[in-house]
Amino acid sequence: MSANTQHTLVDRDKALVWHPFTQEQTALARLPVVRGSGPWLYDEGNNAYLDLVSSWWVNLFGHARPEIAASIAAQANTLEHVLFAGCTHEPAVQLCEALNQMLPLELGKFFFSDNGSTAVEVALKMAHQYWRNVCSQERRLFIGFHGGYHGDTVGAMSVGAHCGYHDQFRSFFFDSVAVPFPETWLADQDVDAREAAALDALEASLKQHAGQVAAMIVEPLVQGAAGMRMCRPQFIAQAVALARVHDTLVIFDEVMTGFGRTGTRFAFEQTGVVPDFLCVSKGITGGFLPLALTITSDPIYQAFLSDTADKAFSHGHSYTANPLACAAALASLTLLNTAETTKAWQRLTQDHKSGLHMLLQTVPCIERVRQCGTIAAFDLPEDYPLAASQLHQCFLQEGLLLRPIGRTVYLMPSYVVNAEQLHNAYERIAHVLGAQA
Ligand code: PLP
Repeated sequence: MSANTQHTLVDRDKALVWHPFTQEQTALARLPVVRGSGPWLYDEGNNAYLDLVSSWWVNLFGHARPEIAASIAAQANTLEHVLFAGCTHEPAVQLCEALNQMLPLELGKFFFSDNGSTAVEVALKMAHQYWRNVCSQERRLFIGFHGGYHGDTVGAMSVGAHCGYHDQFRSFFFDSVAVPFPETWLADQDVDAREAAALDALEASLKQHAGQVAAMIVEPLVQGAAGMRMCRPQFIAQAVALARVHDTLVIFDEVMTGFGRTGTRFAFEQTGVVPDFLCVSKGITGGFLPLALTITSDPIYQAFLSDTADKAFSHGHSYTANPLACAAALASLTLLNTAETTKAWQRLTQDHKSGLHMLLQTVPCIERVRQCGTIAAFDLPEDYPLAASQLHQCFLQEGLLLRPIGRTVYLMPSYVVNAEQLHNAYERIAHVLGAQA
């Protein structure tokens, strides 16, 4: 069937397209987006929607940001792509140099891939092979946290086995262990006890599986897809200390938290500890193109060097280090490293505080109000009358793009949303929620 101008974009979509994480039979109306500008998305009727989820957490500096668009255009006229095995190019090397300036000395080796799942998959495979290479020992087990989401490829699903998104595929996961994640929120009284219990469980697991655990993987400070569950930095530091005592590598999955979301460039900066592997993606290109990096240390890299191919890291993707994506990332990092962006994080942090405070006054049924830098979230009570998909529609009618996760409503806007826009959004959220409470 060819595109028929009599049919709307949504009709044409429904005829052919299968969407991610969607029950197509019951899905409510989908939004036909035709353009974006700053924090706004526009539909076919030119109705504006404030993008409060940064389009699945990727958009940092607003839609159609001219500096990033120009960088991609210039690169497209020079070198659009070249294979990355046996070749290199300026945008990839420049990007690694720029990131190297932003990261601690320990994290000095950069492996490219295409998205958050593959960044994690690479870290898992590297951790597994590291142990083979250094001591001919098979370490097949990974330790993760309840609720941890690390992506949709098989390895990433296996270490996120308890996130609730992948139960259908459980039979082909490899073995992993999940320990409790001590989430916390404002006015939480019991976090000390939850943290102690989580650390005990982690230690017990490390002892039980001594010599078998390749790595521990964690989303530092905020578990995203689990519902913006937040923990204190000291918990991450203590968990890492335990992993180190038990000779286990550490993977920080900063696919979501990287590039300023938590109020610092990377969440791990607040923990005082540095992982063996740092996985980044999503915001790296400012939301323009898919790109990811698994960043590791020189000692890990050295373990893959040998006269023979068997110790090499046998992994790669056709679009590894795509020059257009690297050019987008370079422009995005230039924007990230400005005083204006740091100020935007501080302002957003304050604006969320006032917005959450106002919500607590006007919609007292909300629970577990929480915030970490530019991310704000709260839960609705068990008996709240609207499901997440219905709420999503109500918010759309108010001109807000929000995608609640179960009972959790969260806001993670790009850094260009201003105080008035955010204040207005909180008022409209209060209006939608108040109408049902
Ligand atoms: N890791 C984390 C923490 C994520 O939040 C996500 C995606 O939401 C992923 C990994 C997977 O990233 P992608 O969807 O780009 O594969």
